[in-house]
Amino acid sequence: MAQTETLIVGAGLAGLRALYALREKGISAVVLEASDEIGGVWNHNRYPGARCDVESFDYSYSFSKDLEQEWRWSERYPTQPEILRYINHVADRFDLRRDVVLNARVNEAVYDEDRAVWMATTSDGRTWTANTLMLCLGQLSAPKIPSYPGQEDFGGEVIVSAMWPRRKVDFSGKRVGIIGTGSSGMQMTPVIAQTAAHLTVFQRTANYSLPAANAPLTDEEDARVKANYATRRDQIRNSPTGLGFQPGKVKTLDVSDEEREAALEKSYHRLGFGFALTFPDILLDAKANAVASDFLKRKMGERVADPVLRKKLVPNDHGFGTRRPSVDGGYFEAFARDNVELSDIREHPIVAFTPEGIRTDEKLHELDIVIFATGFDALTGALLKPRIVGRDGRTLAEKWADGPLTQLGLATAGFPNMVIVAGPGSPSVLSNVIVSIEEHADWYARMLATFRAQGIVEFEATEVAEKTWTDYVQQRAQETLYGTANSFYNGGEVAGKPRVFMPFSGGVRHYRQHLQKCADENYSGFEKRKTPAAQKSTEVHRHA
Ligand code: NAP
Repeated sequence: MAQTETLIVGAGLAGLRALYALREKGISAVVLEASDEIGGVWNHNRYPGARCDVESFDYSYSFSKDLEQEWRWSERYPTQPEILRYINHVADRFDLRRDVVLNARVNEAVYDEDRAVWMATTSDGRTWTANTLMLCLGQLSAPKIPSYPGQEDFGGEVIVSAMWPRRKVDFSGKRVGIIGTGSSGMQMTPVIAQTAAHLTVFQRTANYSLPAANAPLTDEEDARVKANYATRRDQIRNSPTGLGFQPGKVKTLDVSDEEREAALEKSYHRLGFGFALTFPDILLDAKANAVASDFLKRKMGERVADPVLRKKLVPNDHGFGTRRPSVDGGYFEAFARDNVELSDIREHPIVAFTPEGIRTDEKLHELDIVIFATGFDALTGALLKPRIVGRDGRTLAEKWADGPLTQLGLATAGFPNMVIVAGPGSPSVLSNVIVSIEEHADWYARMLATFRAQGIVEFEATEVAEKTWTDYVQQRAQETLYGTANSFYNGGEVAGKPRVFMPFSGGVRHYRQHLQKCADENYSGFEKRKTPAAQKSTEVHRHA
């Protein structure tokens, strides 16, 4: 049985960053990773065109000034291979690999109440013991794979975008079908269209998208950013989404038509997701949202010449930003190609797979390759995959049966000494996630070092604190328009999943203030014990 102070589960951007933060505080840690490579989602999502839609300079760690200066991003929006190279570089540069165990999927983690330790068993047959369990399992990492009648009879190849094979997939001469038109489907469509003999995109919901405005990064731009990186990082950490954009000051309908159009036009061409903050009320007020949505619908429509196709490709059932929009590189234009076809499966649903392809209620689409770009069981999916057993034999899946409950997005009552990085209850998928990851990693490292110095062996979120915070997460979400659509933010698009808004929508800066207050109050909202509760200690220190 192997032992360490902290078991980190997952060697993606979060797990590696957490390892670095803990080491800085002299806390030992081991990272257990299911795959044979580090990188998390950037290891698994190797589909053609995979790219981050946050700018390279901002989708990077901020903990080392040297790293910031040394690394040279090649494009404004980094590709998946470049991000994976970056992650590997960081792992080598900071000697992180020596504490990473690959091919070790955590199947089960059980809390031993008497000893106040977690015991985890991994797929390689080993058992690990640690004082703290830190879950760095990603927000969008448990793929959602539909099951259609006849799927097993399909004679061609089926590939899941989030489990992309390492080998090069050759599309030339092939008839390809993509199911799903979120960021993944929209990114791969124009790339696969270039080589496939024929491409059918199966669309259930038309999605909002903005043009990526990607470009190679010049030496001048690289030097300019690196000369002022600290200021840039500061702006990011103090912006609502961790992207550096501050919301416009004037409300959408308080400016003239000309001013509004000019402001939206300017954001549209340069800002990507920053478009949503052109005016402060776009995600808060239905009328403001309708104006921004109409603007984007017009813009998307202008990219599709065929009127019938245009009507199908432009969203018609939700407002901009109420579901995750995309930033694309030529998605709409791809449909002008002779070899690209749209199958609107809301109008003509998929009936079944056949040995030859996919049959909708309209026709048979003959296919050699089907790609599921159907998204993820977001935020809770990966956390609930291993069997995590807390106090009194209760599993996390049982505890969260009606939705996730967290104290400040950090921890949940009944699961002592367990913390979650950038998961539900925190800004997570509503932020530049690397900013949220770094915030948590450093905060936890300080918390664990403090507890060690205080002789605390067991900490546990209180039920009062987690109810207060979870209610607040809901209250903040109700102030927005997020509730008006089913999305992976609220689980409404997964059959059987409770429809609960999961991330904290109050922004990264406001969230940090809550974290700071919690730490300043010696980690309020947590019970801290010098002897495990199971040993019926009299030394219980209560801080509600
Ligand atoms: P997604 O946004 O959840 O999109 C999934 C797509 O699959 C949707 O069009 C969905 O349709 C469709 N779908 C799901 N189940 C289906 C079914 N049974 N039959 C037919 N269609 C089905 O997933 P994603 O595109 O993988 O992106 C997820 C997130 O990952 C992104 O929003 C982003 O946060 C992250 N991501 C980021 C990047 C990037 O940084 N550039 C790239 C890829 C992914 P409905 O809309 O009707 O449910």
